[in-house]
Amino acid sequence: MSREATPFDGHSVSAATRSFLSERHGLLIGGQWRPSLSGATLDSHDPATELHLATVASGGAADIDMAVTAAHRAFTGPWSRLKARERAGLLVRLARLLERDAEMFTELEILDNGMPRFIAGLTVSNCVEMFDYYASAILRIEGVTTTPPPHVTADAEALTYTLREPVGVVGLIVPWNVPVSTLTLKLAPALAAGCTVVVKPAEETPLSAIALGRLIQEAGFPDGVVNIVNGPGESAGAALSTHALIDKISFTGSTEVGRKIVQAAAGNLKKVSLELGGKSPVVVMPDADLELAGSGVSMATFFLQGQNCMAGTRIFAHASIHDELVARLEAFTGFFTLGHGLDPANNFGPLIGGAHAGRVLGHVDRALNDGATLVTGGAKLDRPGHFVPPTILTDVRTDMAVFRDEIFGPVMAIHRFETEDLEQIAAMANDSVYGLSGSVWTRSLSTAHKLVSRIRSGQVSINCHGAIATNIPFGGYKQSGWGREFGREGLDAYLETKAVTARL
Ligand code: NAP
Ligand code: MG
Repeated sequence: MSREATPFDGHSVSAATRSFLSERHGLLIGGQWRPSLSGATLDSHDPATELHLATVASGGAADIDMAVTAAHRAFTGPWSRLKARERAGLLVRLARLLERDAEMFTELEILDNGMPRFIAGLTVSNCVEMFDYYASAILRIEGVTTTPPPHVTADAEALTYTLREPVGVVGLIVPWNVPVSTLTLKLAPALAAGCTVVVKPAEETPLSAIALGRLIQEAGFPDGVVNIVNGPGESAGAALSTHALIDKISFTGSTEVGRKIVQAAAGNLKKVSLELGGKSPVVVMPDADLELAGSGVSMATFFLQGQNCMAGTRIFAHASIHDELVARLEAFTGFFTLGHGLDPANNFGPLIGGAHAGRVLGHVDRALNDGATLVTGGAKLDRPGHFVPPTILTDVRTDMAVFRDEIFGPVMAIHRFETEDLEQIAAMANDSVYGLSGSVWTRSLSTAHKLVSRIRSGQVSINCHGAIATNIPFGGYKQSGWGREFGREGLDAYLETKAVTARL
């Protein structure tokens, strides 16, 4: 494949990526790529260089209405007549096409979002796996058989069985932090279940959804099964979540917008799945393996520059190991090489944008005013791009905003605690409106499992953090969300159950 140096810090990208970036991209509605009805567009930028990447059509309520109508027509028409095995075949074909184009998708994710190459490559191969996984899961969509009680059929011989059927036309609203992956973990099970969809990507990262839309057409999915409408959340996203022909919204994003989605969904009582924010606890006990914790706790906070919902950002360090842990965490920041994600040597990218970087640093300033101590980081790099280095704060009290609010950036807040009482430790860990992830670091099996059972969160890991995989269910307790994605539960989220009773 021909490669050529680009203005993006002089790194080369594939011819496929160059060609993709040079085109004007439309909305995918009913199998046609078209401009938005208003003619509006939005621009995507590379957060590492701040250079313009591409211009894409930006839809509003009228475009959403067309897309929902197309999805509704496809749901009641050609898509509903396909056999389950034919749906599976299409998903497998899509997986192979994505595998073929993995390099272009990797480069688009790096450029659009700023993530380092090792993460972009991982997310694209994970998407391939998700399409394969849910293709095979189609063959395991099955109900139960039972006998109804005699009064139901007046003592006649009878049989009851259940059918699992698609929930209908689904709106998928996704954030910018891992664009193709958060889209695929909704799209693959939705299509496997037999739903049709309208996708609303995040404004900051419109590109990989468009590229995936092209592959969906190439794979041979009927027109209107997948519609993609880039556009603003306040108009396009809101129109999708209020639309009367939408049966379900699956949303990943902030808790604040999640609340709006729930309100918007009330009109036709559409089903809602929510993957929201987090402020996950990381508890380091006196007997922890500190060498393991030094790197593991660091990655819990700084993976993807902290722009990930399961980031461990409330660090509880027992007083007996606090100073050694802090020293190791500070030393481990040397592992991170900041720079453009296209260079495989860089493992730490920029934040998504200037406004977001400003908010993240605002949290650090406020923490310092509140009495925290800065160990390292805390200022933007003096170069183009929105680079904020790994930042570590100690002397953090549990009532400080930096310890309570989701920051979604590379900011680690460390609280020193004295007690060894597990009930008290769990109470501290649970003192949050969120409950998405968390981890405990200890050599004691007993301590680990006792703490795990007391922490109210959808995911708690022992001596590691943030286990995300196709077959591991993921989702939040409390204000971190409703429902689970990945695994079997990820497919159940797009299925209804119909009970059928037959008098024989
Ligand atoms: P966001 O502001 O909530 O946006 C998410 C999506 O919702 C975007 O596509 C956005 O469109 C759209 N949107 C905005 N306002 C809307 C409205 N009124 N109605 C319908 N849609 C609307 O979140 P973000 O800043 O992109 O992402 C960061 C947040 O996502 C963090 O809180 C993070 O924890 C959470 N997150 C959670 C998970 C998880 O699995 N739990 C995973 C990743 C991220 P625009 O792009 O146009 O604003
Ligand atoms: Mg972008």
